[in-house]
Amino acid sequence: MSTSHTVSDAVPAAKKVEGAPAVAAAPAARSGLTARHLVLAAVALLLAAWGFLPEFSVTLLNYIGLYALVALGLVMLTGVGGMTSFGQAAFVGVGAYATAWASTSPDAAALFGALPPALLPWAGLVLGLVLTFAVAWFLGSITLKLSGHYLPLCTIAWGLSLYFLFGNLEFLGGHTGLAGVPPLVVAGFSLASPRVLGLLIWAVVLLGLWALHNLLDSREGRAIRSLKGGRVMAESMGVDTGRQRIKLFVLAALLAAVSGWLYAHLQRFVNPTPFSLHIGVEYLFMAVVGGAGHLWGAVLGAALITLLKEQLQDWLPRLLGSSGNFEVIVFGLLMLFVLQRFADGLWPQFAGWTRRWLRPTPVKLPAAAPLPQRALPQRGQVVLEASEVTKRFGGLVANNAVNLHVKAGEILALIGPNGAGKSTFFNMISGVDDPTSGEVRLMGQAMKGKPSRAFAALGLSRSFQHVRLLGQRTVLENVAVGAHLRASRGWIASMLRLDRAEEAAVLAEARRQIERCGLGAHADTPAASLALGQQRIVEIARALASQPAVLLLDEPAAGLRHLEKQALAKLLDQLRAEGLGILVVEHDMEFVMNLADRITVLEFGTVIAEGTPAEVQGNQRVLDAYLGGSDDLGVAA
Ligand code: ADP
Ligand code: MG
Repeated sequence: MSTSHTVSDAVPAAKKVEGAPAVAAAPAARSGLTARHLVLAAVALLLAAWGFLPEFSVTLLNYIGLYALVALGLVMLTGVGGMTSFGQAAFVGVGAYATAWASTSPDAAALFGALPPALLPWAGLVLGLVLTFAVAWFLGSITLKLSGHYLPLCTIAWGLSLYFLFGNLEFLGGHTGLAGVPPLVVAGFSLASPRVLGLLIWAVVLLGLWALHNLLDSREGRAIRSLKGGRVMAESMGVDTGRQRIKLFVLAALLAAVSGWLYAHLQRFVNPTPFSLHIGVEYLFMAVVGGAGHLWGAVLGAALITLLKEQLQDWLPRLLGSSGNFEVIVFGLLMLFVLQRFADGLWPQFAGWTRRWLRPTPVKLPAAAPLPQRALPQRGQVVLEASEVTKRFGGLVANNAVNLHVKAGEILALIGPNGAGKSTFFNMISGVDDPTSGEVRLMGQAMKGKPSRAFAALGLSRSFQHVRLLGQRTVLENVAVGAHLRASRGWIASMLRLDRAEEAAVLAEARRQIERCGLGAHADTPAASLALGQQRIVEIARALASQPAVLLLDEPAAGLRHLEKQALAKLLDQLRAEGLGILVVEHDMEFVMNLADRITVLEFGTVIAEGTPAEVQGNQRVLDAYLGGSDDLGVAA
């Protein structure tokens, strides 16, 4: 199995995997250029012009770089991860004040006694990062476990209180702030001139873009992308989404702190004003207007807002005949307009134009080694067991003392009219929800109170009745999420591209499962563009990518055509032969009766019959339940 496939017309097939698929691209007009070429050209151009730009342009570009760094964190947090923070300016403040204090205060000089003065700003950087890390981890861990608006509210409180704290702490200079911040010195070379420091600022921005781009294009990146709207699914695939959320919040805060550190040494003094809640909102504008889900949107947003603010501050007072922060009102209106017209911000528009004549940057992956394999349990061994599982929703008993077990190498079907409690039972035995009473044992282990990722770790994988896919991502990426626990490279390794061998193995495995499920032709299409029946098959491929021992499928055949159903039955038959224990909920009785070894029938949350297909079809209670209900038993009737 190789990872290679053709990206587009002009690209040789060998070892090229496309990072972001071009949807409905028109290949005819494309040049050989990729987006990467364009970036390199822009950087080279800017670098060549840097020495000749007017002072004013350099200052503006420096500020755009500093803001872009903060907006970059917000793009990751808000656009990609679906969390909102109004408090980024306060983190910028922590970075700025930490270095200002470290490099000006006599107390700091005493604390860092052994350090030569040129190294104090670097001690300030470390101090700022450590403080930011601690605060962000703390805020994240108390708010991110709670759903809803706790995080935004908490960041508002944090933004407000830190601003007043800066203004009232004697040793930070109160509202006057700290002056006399020294310039950065690197290897004896002073970065006092904004023109020189600007090079460092933009180097950091580009480095950040590169690292975050790498991060998003990795195992951890897929986990991060699933935080927004796919958390239940991701947990079922073994992702610790709570931890990923905290890490993302910390990452965004650290980027803001680095921006603050650079800011302090550019401005050479700090006071509380630029770290207020008001500026925190402006950072959010930048990320959202630029393109909340796109890394380059951060740069675009920072540039637009900075330039616009610059112009508005000139023009508005003249137009209105009085001075004030009128630009805030214009920003608010602008944001409404942009979000109304371009829900994903302006970057996708921009990228859309360039895509006409750019081809996607090919991503080279090494040859893929196979992923580690799980030792499957002995055929006939009980792998999943539910005893007396009861689930109440208020007064409604959705599952009433359900007993059921699945053995390795068999297919058990769970059937019952709509509302019988089948999906609820699926959630009980996959850790999505906890039973009110009763016990679930997986591979012989009691699973009470364990999260669904613990079920995944033991070898259980599932599909969802209401398909849970990352619609904008390709089928390949979606299926690769299933292999999350078979790989281990973390954030840092992904950012530094040290995960390529493992990534190749994961993608090769995903591709293998996609082909096995008959969707090979669709591997590189966004999942949302597939028919619903095919999306269900993608869910099965994703479950298989985890190499499960127990497979739970909730209505896998719904929406499939006859031939597709036959193919699915063949696949499940094959999986059973390989020794998997399979539990399937299905309405198509012909499908179930031909495939299942045993059938359990649920009605109003209670098991009313169980046995072989023949036994169940002859059971009077089952016939009554089906003939009385809206479903019919198909071949059984
Ligand atoms: P099935 O999958 O067999 O069609 P479900 O398990 O989806 O049935 O639903 C069983 C019963 O539990 C239904 O009456 C449904 O309305 C109820 N139910 C399911 N989930 C919830 C929930 N989260 N809160 C309240 N009631 C629920
Ligand atoms: Mg259901």
